[in-house]
Amino acid sequence: MRLSGKLRFIEAPAVVSPVLEITLHSFKLFIFCAMPLDSTTNQDFPPQPADCRRCERLATFLDTVKMRYPDYHARPVSAFGDCNAQLLIVGLAPGMHGANRTGRPFTGDYAGILLYQTLHKFGFASHAESVSRHDDLRLLNCRITNAVKCLPPQNKPNPDEIRQCNHYLQVELREFVRHGGKALLALGAIAHQAVLRSLDLRLKDYLFAHGAVHTLEDLPVKLYDSYHCSRYNTQTKRLTAEMFGQVFTRIAADLSDHHFQGE
Ligand code: SF4
Repeated sequence: MRLSGKLRFIEAPAVVSPVLEITLHSFKLFIFCAMPLDSTTNQDFPPQPADCRRCERLATFLDTVKMRYPDYHARPVSAFGDCNAQLLIVGLAPGMHGANRTGRPFTGDYAGILLYQTLHKFGFASHAESVSRHDDLRLLNCRITNAVKCLPPQNKPNPDEIRQCNHYLQVELREFVRHGGKALLALGAIAHQAVLRSLDLRLKDYLFAHGAVHTLEDLPVKLYDSYHCSRYNTQTKRLTAEMFGQVFTRIAADLSDHHFQGE
């Protein structure tokens, strides 16, 4: 039996006592964490879309990529990292010769260089380089996923494909919160919007801006924004190592802050 995947929070009355407000907040959080998306979901681990072909255009494209590059992963790319992480990073989609080749997010191409260097610098990764699924890299208190799990042509997923794949991000975020996640880092505006959609939050209430930090309604999680660490953005200096480091400085400070952890 399949259940609705859409998360709906119960609206609180306009005026409530502090005690009732806390109770309602706890109840909303309980609903968010406990609500099943699919009766086949393994609640011990966010389900990963290993063989999903829901997006016909992307599935067909991956078939042609696989014929051209038989050694490439050329399937949906699963999330990578610590299931109990406090930091979840959400990128856009696998790159042709990076995650689509190696089967691990941000692994094997230019986009991963600055990301893994920065993760290592801030103690979120055991190494500063991510080469293949078979290296011994470990993420520490960190997990990485993408808004769209399959390689899109020209790195541009259609809105329908972003919506379709939001099912997986929704489950990932639900598990992230359930396991004590605190910080969501969106790399780029599309990832930012996909996160909001998966949390059933209105896009106009949380506008994307590099360096922005959003406190999310009724959730013990903050959303941090950064420009995507793509080759284009880093080579044009739209995103520098210093700018990226400032985002992680804020995240690391917030995660180590007693008040933030107690929220
Ligand atoms: S993009 Fe997501 S929903 Fe679409 S086929 Fe790939 S895994 Fe499935």
